[in-house]
Amino acid sequence: MGRRASPLSTYDVAVVGLGIVGACAVHALARTGARVIALDAGAPAGGTSGTSFAWLNSCKKEPEHYHRLNAEGMAEHRRLAQELGADGGHHDGGSLEWAEGGDERELRERVARLASRGYAADFISRDRARSMEPGLAIPDHVREVAFYAGDAWLDAPRLIRAVLEAARKKGAEIRPNTPVRSLRVDGASAGAVVTDGGGIEARALLVCVGPVTRAFLAPLGVEMPIERVYGQLTITSRPPVALQRVVHAPGLHFRPDASGGLMLGTDDLNGPVIEAASPAEREEIAERMLERARRVFPAARDVKVMEYRVGVRPMPADRHTVAGSVPGVANAWMIATHSGVTLGPLLGRLIADEILRDTPSATLAPFRPERFAAARAS
Ligand SMILES: Cc1cc2nc3c(=O)[nH]c(=O)nc-3n(C[C@H](O)[C@H](O)[C@H](O)COP(=O)(O)OP(=O)(O)OC[C@H]3O[C@@H](n4cnc5c(N)ncnc54)[C@H](O)[C@@H]3O)c2cc1C
Repeated sequence: MGRRASPLSTYDVAVVGLGIVGACAVHALARTGARVIALDAGAPAGGTSGTSFAWLNSCKKEPEHYHRLNAEGMAEHRRLAQELGADGGHHDGGSLEWAEGGDERELRERVARLASRGYAADFISRDRARSMEPGLAIPDHVREVAFYAGDAWLDAPRLIRAVLEAARKKGAEIRPNTPVRSLRVDGASAGAVVTDGGGIEARALLVCVGPVTRAFLAPLGVEMPIERVYGQLTITSRPPVALQRVVHAPGLHFRPDASGGLMLGTDDLNGPVIEAASPAEREEIAERMLERARRVFPAARDVKVMEYRVGVRPMPADRHTVAGSVPGVANAWMIATHSGVTLGPLLGRLIADEILRDTPSATLAPFRPERFAAARAS
């Protein structure tokens, strides 16, 4: 067990936050036999992880060490999918992407770079792409389509349920609807998490609160620049021709939704546009996404918008994962990351190992919280 642990605590580790990151950490901790308590303010998967596009990939993750972290995250998902079977919500089949105009060159260069790193990235003919996805309309002038054979998408709420159930069977205590109001700090150590029902002591604390990380850690005097970036996804009714995999077309990305419909997202109708939009404007944005879907997936001609989901990405200021011990608090660890669906199982396992064995992971070395000018008040 890591630094300055109190030998009297009931629990070895208290995990705060049960999105994909916290849930996977609970799973990894519980399987070692550690005594774990896990708390969420609402329902597990009720945060960003339940409103994610959840594409498991490392296609645009730069520089190389961040790309490799995400590629390792994908491999960890494959291992977990084998362990959990259908309950794990893992849907392989790869992903397809094409570009037009000035973006074609960037795509060619990216596919070449990814392939040179050993990532499954290649070009296939337009006809082959059409045979894989008969519902797609790929413009005639697009001769080749990028195919990333190792990519997948995840039914993240399903995976979260499955890993928490597995952890519960190993003795983990899971408490939904239990907001942590504050952390009690004794000297330089976190003594307890304070809930409405009182304090809960644990020898170590792991903070996985996603987009509220900055506000959560601020009372400890820890300034962690985790920004909040809004995004919107639109869910349609079921199309008559099923989509099999993740597709990136100019102006739209989409994939099958667990409901049988399509999940649609865009890069331009995103971030501040969504944050500032009223509910009526968000409905309009959902309809605009559907219009785009009808152009690239004519099989969606008669589908309807069933719902739209707005999520808030936890976005570290330099866009890269933050994982490790909380600066200045001897027995507290944190994980905050974008790409958290791809990375959750890997980060959960690595941080569990660090907490229980007190051995820093070499893989996480470039992603430590200390890289930000962390300041702890006295
Ligand atoms: C539109 C969109 C598309 C995305 N697409 C992808 C993608 O394709 N691939 C990918 O890998 N990633 C994607 N992401 C990012 C990914 O979804 C996130 O990185 C990930 O879900 C973060 O998980 P998390 O567990 O850290 O946070 P969350 O899922 O938000 O979980 C944090 C939990 O902490 C709890 N909590 C907060 N405060 C407290 C408290 N005081 N006490 C107790 N509990 C508390 C919350 O209730 C919540 O359940 C996308 C995100 C968005 C919004």
